[in-house]
Order: sequence, then C-alpha cells, then structure tokens
Amino acid sequence: MSCVFCVGKGSVNGALCRTCKGSGWIEIGGAGMVDPTVFGHVDYDSERYTGFAFGMGIERMAMLRYRVNDIKLFYEGDVRFVRQFR
Ligand SMILES: [Zn+2]
Repeated sequence: MSCVFCVGKGSVNGALCRTCKGSGWIEIGGAGMVDPTVFGHVDYDSERYTGFAFGMGIERMAMLRYRVNDIKLFYEGDVRFVRQFR
C-alpha cells in the first residue's frame, strides 16, 4: 500500500520518511515461503515438506487509518494514546 505519511514520495519535508524508510510503500499483509530450518525444529523433514506463511497485522491497518507513524505506540500500553481514538 502507498505510504500515507509521505504520500508515496519516500520523504517528508526533505527528510527520509521514517515509516516506509524511503520506499514509499508499506507492507500490510506479508507472505512468503517458510525457512526449511523451521521444519527441523518441529521434526518435519524439510526435504519432503515445504511451507507458505501469510498474515496481516491489525496494527498496520490502524496505523494507516489513524495516521499513527510509529507502530511501537500500540504496544506501550499508554492509556493517553488509546483514549485519543474515542
Ligand atoms: Zn513513507
């Protein structure tokens, strides 16, 4: 998705956009192949099995909806932060 903080430009007021790190894009739904090493940890034969994983972070959607530029704010537990979204 295009970065809502720099409008896809990669910079804000001449500085590198810290949310998208200059790419102009934000990943909201990651996906990819599972590293074969992971199968070794759960005693699956990585020569026989492969895996595909995907997911979507609800925090990312909230970041874009409410224009919160630092995802860490969602995990700090500061009630003042939460109350602004009434
Ligand atoms: Zn950006």
